[in-house]
Amino acid sequence: MSDARARLETLATEARARAYAPYSGYSVGAALEATDGSVFTGCNVENASYSVTCCAERSALFAAVSAGARSFRRIVVTAGGRAPYPCGSCRQALAEFAPELEVIVVTDDGARHEFTLDRLLPHPFRFTKGRQP
Ligand code: ZN
Repeated sequence: MSDARARLETLATEARARAYAPYSGYSVGAALEATDGSVFTGCNVENASYSVTCCAERSALFAAVSAGARSFRRIVVTAGGRAPYPCGSCRQALAEFAPELEVIVVTDDGARHEFTLDRLLPHPFRFTKGRQP
């Protein structure tokens, strides 16, 4: 594993420790690497009104975009237990900025699953002005 990926995994795991997941008990952390090498982390933030909950991936993405980052190389997502594959909302949100993003899913037992975002979400919604072809 490259140093960059190891660093992302460490940062994602640290972010996971800050997750607010009192309802599901499923803490997730994410570390999103921009193309300039800067890294933004996020954790899931649950809410009593479940639909308000935000996943770790989107927390990291929104922090990155809020800081001015617009292009990304890869994201590492970590969790204990089952593999934290990004949900459909996170796939769509990430595709807005990086449709070919590397997505690396890691669990505590050392299992790693690697994809590109366009494989996980082959036909993201795209807004185009005017008539659709
Ligand atoms: Zn999600």
